[in-house]
Amino acid sequence: MIYFDNAASTPSLKEVEETYIKVNEEFFANSDSRHEFGRQSASLLEKARESILRDLGVEKTHSLIFTSGATESNNLALKGVALRYRKRGKKIISTAIEHPSVSHVLDELRELGFTTVLLKPTSNGNVDPSELEKAIDSDTILVSVMGANNETGAINDIASMAKIVKRYPKCFFHVDATQSIMKSEQDLSVSDLFSLSAHKLGGMKGSGALVYRKGMSFFPVNAGGEQERGFRGGTSNLPGDVSLAKAISIDKSQQEEIVKNVSLLRGYLYSELVKRDDIVMNSPLDGSPFILNFSLKKKKASVVLEALSERGIYVSSVSACSSAGEPISSVLLAMGRSVDLAKNSMRVSFGRQNTMGEAKEFLSAFESIMQEVIDR
Ligand code: PLP
Repeated sequence: MIYFDNAASTPSLKEVEETYIKVNEEFFANSDSRHEFGRQSASLLEKARESILRDLGVEKTHSLIFTSGATESNNLALKGVALRYRKRGKKIISTAIEHPSVSHVLDELRELGFTTVLLKPTSNGNVDPSELEKAIDSDTILVSVMGANNETGAINDIASMAKIVKRYPKCFFHVDATQSIMKSEQDLSVSDLFSLSAHKLGGMKGSGALVYRKGMSFFPVNAGGEQERGFRGGTSNLPGDVSLAKAISIDKSQQEEIVKNVSLLRGYLYSELVKRDDIVMNSPLDGSPFILNFSLKKKKASVVLEALSERGIYVSSVSACSSAGEPISSVLLAMGRSVDLAKNSMRVSFGRQNTMGEAKEFLSAFESIMQEVIDR
């Protein structure tokens, strides 16, 4: 098997799985229970929180809420902030290339009376900070921009955007860092909040976090008990939370090596694929080294994907459907690609376990499939 779908989910690391099992077996007490066993669980939870904040270099300025993953973190970041701070203003700025866990929340917030502005990306896939400068005003209470795009890997200039938002003291700046954290040099400490997910970085599915600037408050989207300072009710997922801390600490220690490896694979495939006149490259050359996205000019991407899958090679194509029920990438449409290209994109995404041998095998399979498959 060649697994090139790491932007969808990564395999979990052995040490992370072992941590999960050990905590699940040895610290099964509810971390809210008042007895000694419960206090031990609570102490472990706080240690995991501190360890993550330290590894991310934000322990002095930020705190974090453990969640079930980036979808929940994004829901809490957007709804939690908008509803808590609604008296400050009604405007929320985001982009036209966000993951559905942001874009669909924006739809809901519009129904609740907020106004939203979606910044358009350039044809390279990232948003020019000057677009934010033009859109932001004193009614804006929240700006939400993804760190790196999950389809194209285009990286946003978070540092410049944070500077713009800072001029508006009533406004918060959220970054969906799911595809950029531990995968780029992006400094997230400049943002007020950022979302992350364990299963994108060698952790277990079902755990994640929302990191937020100390002193901030949230409308509890998951109302319930007083867990997570009352911002997220529900019994803590202690094994998930501790194993998230483990995944982040391993990733941090191996980040340089991992980025070097995936950069080589992506660089190789980029330079080979860009020579072909039957594809259009969608990923910018300077995008995330973990993601390579291109569209097929004449073939159906779903057919090529299936043929690769039959050979045990797993990549991804567009998953969201248009109103006509056909898969189409709203990200590529926003970048100005044609409907045909937006329907026929493929994403190859890399992880720490991938090798150059796999990249070569993928390329040779892709080349022969492109000869076999008839034009659409
Ligand atoms: N945000 C981005 C940019 C993503 O790529 C994803 C998952 O693909 C998510 C959010 C949602 O993450 P999760 O699966 O942890 O809910």
